[in-house]
Parts: sequence; structure tokens; C-alpha cells
Amino acid sequence: MSIIPSLTLNNGVELPSLGFGVFQTAPEETVDAVSEALKVGYRHIDTAAAYGNEREVGTAIAASGIPRDELFLETKAWISDYGYDETLHAFDKSAGKLGVDQLDLFILHQPLPTAFERTLGAYRALEKLYADGRVRAIGVSNFMPEHLEELLKVSEVVPAVNQIEVHPYFQQRELLELDTERGILNQAWSPIGGITFYRDGVGGSTLEDPVITTIAEAHGKSPAQVMLRWHLQEGRSAIPKSTKAHRIAENFDVFDFELTADELARIDALDQGVRRGPEPVSVTLETFGRPIPEA
Ligand code: NDP
Repeated sequence: MSIIPSLTLNNGVELPSLGFGVFQTAPEETVDAVSEALKVGYRHIDTAAAYGNEREVGTAIAASGIPRDELFLETKAWISDYGYDETLHAFDKSAGKLGVDQLDLFILHQPLPTAFERTLGAYRALEKLYADGRVRAIGVSNFMPEHLEELLKVSEVVPAVNQIEVHPYFQQRELLELDTERGILNQAWSPIGGITFYRDGVGGSTLEDPVITTIAEAHGKSPAQVMLRWHLQEGRSAIPKSTKAHRIAENFDVFDFELTADELARIDALDQGVRRGPEPVSVTLETFGRPIPEA
């Protein structure tokens, strides 16, 4: 029995709310990191074709001996593979590297605003994979309101998830609300604000924020644990990343305490409204395109 509460997607599929991310986890570190996560109790792994470590995620999963139906595997098609036929093939590449026949959640990594027709073609491929039972749910990532509105005009299947940058310093409240109105689950990337400290940026690190450290002290928990609780209590999925065994365990140890409504509100008030990740409109094939190898 898993201790991770699940969230029900708009098609009834259950997603473990807390997952394990592997962006910037080098291939040579990925087997150990994912194995450690599975040992600690994570059952949901978030990777992407563009992370270059799907094969190692698959190796760790196979070695774990955990039955496939107890794991939730999420991966993302990269923009270089957008277009209907290309994205169908992107599924084969990802599933092949992961060593599975079916994905639990397959999402588009980014909108490609300069070639939105290709983005729509890619989404049609996801709908086909869903209809064929190759994926249990489909979704998007980094879709802003304008991209979602355009997609929803033509799509047959409402995305189950929008994976977006959300941490105390950048909360995208309007987008969170729009997703919820449309039945799309919000999934937070950089949930503990990783991007506020692994990239030079403005506004400091969420880990050192005095509001967060004060709340953490009051509960005898760490700042990272407080931020993860904040996501979970506000109904979002969160997918923290670490390659360190002690942090992998720390980030999972968040099911034995509860933030008060006042504490949640104090974290809500930390929003600086400044995006740390790439502006979705700046993502073009020229700036971000790169070939995704075959399985
Ligand atoms: P996170 O908010 O998960 O932070 C990760 C960073 O925090 C790493 O530098 C990690 O270092 C460090 N860290 C982890 N746990 C702790 C802790 N308990 N205390 C202190 N430091 C800690 O940021 P990410 O950007 O990695 O986002 C998480 C996941 O979201 C990614 O791995 C990926 O799966 C997804 N993602 C998706 C994006 C998208 O465009 N769809 C973009 C970015 C991320 P260390 O490993 O050394 O512990």
C-alpha cells in the first residue's frame, strides 16, 4: 500500500500527487537516483525525451522489480519531434528507451508558438495514442492561457495535466485557475523553487526565504518539505528532483504534517510574479531544437 495520496485526472486515471523529477540528472546518475526514489517509496517518475535519461529511468524501473501497474511513468515529447507522424514516432522512441509498452502520461513539453500547427499535430498524435491505449492519459507543459485556448478549440481530448513552473516566487495564479476551470490538473515543476537557486536569477532562493524557514521551524520540517506540503494541500501535483539520497528521502517525508490556512496564505503572498524559466514565446526550433535519438 502506497502512502502517497493520489489525484484523479479528468479521465479517471489516478496519479500519485508527489512524483520524482529527473531534469538535469546526468544519465550516469539516473539509475542510482531513480532506484533510491523507488526504494524510499516514490511511485511516479517524471522524465522527458529532452532530458537524455529515459533509458536509465527504464533500467532503474526494471531493476526495482516493482510491478508495472504500481508505477506511474510520465514523459514528454520534445519540440523537435512535433507534427503528427513525428510525435507518434516520439512515443516509440520514449517507450522503447523506458522499456515499456504503455505510458501513464505523455505530454507535450512546450508549445511551439512560432509553429503552432506542428504543436496541434503533435497533440493529435497524443489523442491517437490515447485512443489506441498506448498512453493512459495525455497532457501539456508550459502551455499559457492563449495556447490552451487555441488547443481546446480543436482538441477532442482535454489535456489531463498542464505541467508548469510553480513555486512560492512564481505562482501563475490565473493559469492555475484556468487549468482548474477546464478540468486540467496543475503539476508544479521546480516545486521547491529549484530554478531560483540553480540558475542566477533575481529575488533570491526560496530555500532561504524567511517566511518559509519560519514555518519550517514551527513544524520541525525543512523549507523544501514546507513547499511540497503547500503544493499538495493546494491540490497540485509536485515532482521534486534530487540526486542526493538524503534529499530524495526528505522530499518524500511530507505526509505527517499539515500547514494551517494562515501558513498557506503566507506562502501564497510570496509570489513575485517573475518567471525564472524560458518565456514560452522564446522557445523556437532554432533556439531550442535538438534531435532526439532513436530508442
Ligand atoms: P526542484 O524545485 O525540484 O529543485 C531541484 C534542485 O533542488 C536541485 O538543485 C536539487 O539538488 C535541489 N534539492 C532537491 N531537494 C532539496 C532539498 N530537500 N533541500 C535543498 N535542495 C534540494 O527543481 P527542478 O527544476 O529540478 O524541477 C523538478 C522537476 O520538474 C524536474 O526534475 C523535471 O522533472 C520537471 N521540470 C519540468 C520542466 C518543464 O519544462 N516541463 C522544467 C523544469 C523541471 P540535488 O539534486 O543536488 O539535491
